[in-house]
Amino acid sequence: MGHKEAEQPVMHADVIIVGGGIAGLATALDLARGGMAVTLVEAGVPGAQASSANAGSLHAQIPHDPFRTLGADWARRFQPAIRLFIASIGLWQRLEADLGADLDIRFGGGLLVAVNEAEMAEIETKAAIEREAGLGVDLIGRKALRDLAPYLSERAVGGAFAGIEGKANPLLVAPAYAAAARAAGVTIISGAGPASIAADGGTYVVAAGNQRWRAPRIVIAAGSESGRLAAQLGTPLAIDAVAIQVSVTEPAAPLVPHLVYCASQKLTLKQAKNGSLLIGGGWDARLDEQGRPQVDPANLAANLKVALDMVPALGSLNLVRSWAAFVNGTDDWLPIIGPLPDHPDAHVCFVPWMGFTGGPAAARLTADRILGRPPFFDLPPDSFAPKRP
Ligand SMILES: Cc1cc2nc3c(=O)[nH]c(=O)nc-3n(C[C@H](O)[C@H](O)[C@H](O)COP(=O)(O)OP(=O)(O)OC[C@H]3O[C@@H](n4cnc5c(N)ncnc54)[C@H](O)[C@@H]3O)c2cc1C
Repeated sequence: MGHKEAEQPVMHADVIIVGGGIAGLATALDLARGGMAVTLVEAGVPGAQASSANAGSLHAQIPHDPFRTLGADWARRFQPAIRLFIASIGLWQRLEADLGADLDIRFGGGLLVAVNEAEMAEIETKAAIEREAGLGVDLIGRKALRDLAPYLSERAVGGAFAGIEGKANPLLVAPAYAAAARAAGVTIISGAGPASIAADGGTYVVAAGNQRWRAPRIVIAAGSESGRLAAQLGTPLAIDAVAIQVSVTEPAAPLVPHLVYCASQKLTLKQAKNGSLLIGGGWDARLDEQGRPQVDPANLAANLKVALDMVPALGSLNLVRSWAAFVNGTDDWLPIIGPLPDHPDAHVCFVPWMGFTGGPAAARLTADRILGRPPFFDLPPDSFAPKRP
């Protein structure tokens, strides 16, 4: 028996999930609630990578920076992602009740701010594409903007307001998902070290260190490492680990009820429940000699300048912390969700750049597919299917 097991490890679950960020944990929960036996293998601490290091924005609009560089045709190709973000925010609206936890979620709406008429014209073009995808966006002029957001600089001439956007506290979300997944019967293996995957006789073997797990299905939910894992099954996916940074101020009196963006420079700005303001927007961090992300002081200063230009009252606040982490990026910003070519039972669950927002929906779509249910929102088949480069 022992000899046979060494050659042919026992089946450990109906599904093994590799990676325990928001994508993996949410998929594990949905599959367990759908009746499957799930094992999740996490290299380190569940949720400790991008899923807790992020800035907590819940986005639905097309990010303005890639819109400017990639253009309107790209923005139309991005429309299915907008639908996914809208559907995900629908899940976020019920998430505190669903997980039985306070996640500091608030939907104050997202405000993209222009400081000149050329930016306002860009915003109008972008808003039209967003509306085609079903997102409610209001264009607002100078006077209405001042009434809505008196904390903004006098330089603001107008903007776009997407009422469904908001924020959550990333430090609370992954642990709440992990607790709910465990309660639903998921086995979470933490600290396994980086796992590798291999197809073996119609099943999949996941190996980490001297441990092995086997199941008829797997889900790759390893964030920025997902491309490398997919390559082990013959489909390298063009996924990068990009080091970016975020900062947080000391707590202040209520000032900014919205998620604020700026059309001319990268910025996300929001106020947490405790009063701290989170300042980000995807500014690059640098890497140390060991390849670990470190805050880049020049980009920190540039990020803070944009924030101050938009919201002058920030000038009286101390910054208490800046940090850097790897985000899972792709060039086209599109989610990758579905089975790998030639591997109908090896699924990828991946949302780049804004995967905190999109994680719950990507997970639900993955679970729907594995459980044989129709997608939980209206989506053309194979919208985000993994493809060979
Ligand atoms: C600084 C920063 C700010 C951001 N701000 C926002 C924001 O405001 N809003 C938003 O929507 N998104 C934001 N993002 C992006 C978002 O955080 C990520 O897209 C999202 O968390 C990805 O979730 P994930 O579960 O796919 O990946 P991760 O959270 O990275 O989880 C992947 C997990 O897989 C594990 N893993 C990797 N390889 C292996 C392996 N071989 N074996 C076993 N385990 C493995 C890792 O240890 C990790 O725990 C930000 C990201 C960063 C870094």
